[in-house]
Amino acid sequence: MESVLFKGPWVAGVGEADVGVRDGRIALVGRAEAGDRYDRIIEADGCALIPGLVNCHGHAAMTLFRGIADDLPLRRWLEEKIWPLEAKLTAECVYWGSMLAMAEMIRGGTTTFTDMYFFEEETARAAEEAGMRAVLSRGLAVGPNLHNALRENRQLAEEWHQRGDGRITVQLGPHALYTCPPRQLEPILDLAAELDLALQIHVAETKEEVEESIARYGKSPVAVLEETGLFQFPVLAAHCVHVSEEDIGILARNKVHVSHNPVSNLKLGSGIAPVPQMLAAGMIVGLGTDGASSNNNLDMFLEMRMAALIHKGIANDPTLVPAGLALEMATSLGAKALFLEDVGSIEEGMKADITLIDLNQVHLSPRHDPCAAIAYAAKASDVTLVMADGRILLEEGRLTTIDEERTIYEAQRCLRALQEQL
Ligand SMILES: [Zn+2]
Repeated sequence: MESVLFKGPWVAGVGEADVGVRDGRIALVGRAEAGDRYDRIIEADGCALIPGLVNCHGHAAMTLFRGIADDLPLRRWLEEKIWPLEAKLTAECVYWGSMLAMAEMIRGGTTTFTDMYFFEEETARAAEEAGMRAVLSRGLAVGPNLHNALRENRQLAEEWHQRGDGRITVQLGPHALYTCPPRQLEPILDLAAELDLALQIHVAETKEEVEESIARYGKSPVAVLEETGLFQFPVLAAHCVHVSEEDIGILARNKVHVSHNPVSNLKLGSGIAPVPQMLAAGMIVGLGTDGASSNNNLDMFLEMRMAALIHKGIANDPTLVPAGLALEMATSLGAKALFLEDVGSIEEGMKADITLIDLNQVHLSPRHDPCAAIAYAAKASDVTLVMADGRILLEEGRLTTIDEERTIYEAQRCLRALQEQL
């Protein structure tokens, strides 16, 4: 594998430094000596070098449904628009939808993403080809298909866990308490124990979900999930918008990690998660875009900005979620949220997942505080180079692993085929 030296960027968490990459890992953060040999030297003066962004929640293939069902409440959005289309999905659709998502994510500086969906082996295949790091699960919901879905999640784990030089991690994906009631969670937890896997689940996304849980079980979804034993496993909970102080206590005590997805929560009118309270309770909170049909993009810069802005706005407190914290949520905290140990920061020995941002732009000038520039002013299109696992995936405006034109064409073709069947 090519060794690369990035000369002179501003490095997140470090300051001005050179960053050397060898054998897929960060080998130097500091000053390169004149005698150091690298296959390539990239002049990065005037750039910010940050850890590749980590997208903690999403459904990659839902790029196919971008803009197809907007301005509807979650349940109607799911029941009337999304579920009928998903019922017709094919493996091919998921492959091209996932590839489209990855092209967009790489362009926006994301090197790691999480996924919960159907035909997940197609997303795994696309991730292996695209060179991204991926944490994947088969969505599991109660119904006649649960048994098959569980079998597919097991197969996914057996075939894909730690593949692609360790870039691919498999989790189990019970969709939510309202689609996976306690009894149905049992076989899922048995499988998690057997295969030693973490789980991801949607939790307390809407007020209705919480009201329904209280009507049915006399408790909040968080309290019910604790009783099922779910939290004895490593768990990534998506959303956690409507959680009480008690719920936050339960989540913190059980070391449940959270994906905060501000844009999706705003677009679906779900509300705003009490992230400052979760962070104050010592919880690990990363950022996610959710699927492209509830966002409608996979731009982690926008998530950073939203996370940095909305909590200030609703609490009338401009000190909440400062720029540096927003950047950490999109990088190091995100990696921790996904239980990944050697990505998420620019340190010697870490995997070389690197995003380079060109600060030499009118909207980022004059240069003063790169952290604030990234959180409050930078755009996905300011990303000039992306490296994952030591391999360059984007350079000089070109994706190196994905045929972008063909991907756009195939995704369009797949959507048309799906719509013709409705
Ligand atoms: Zn979701």
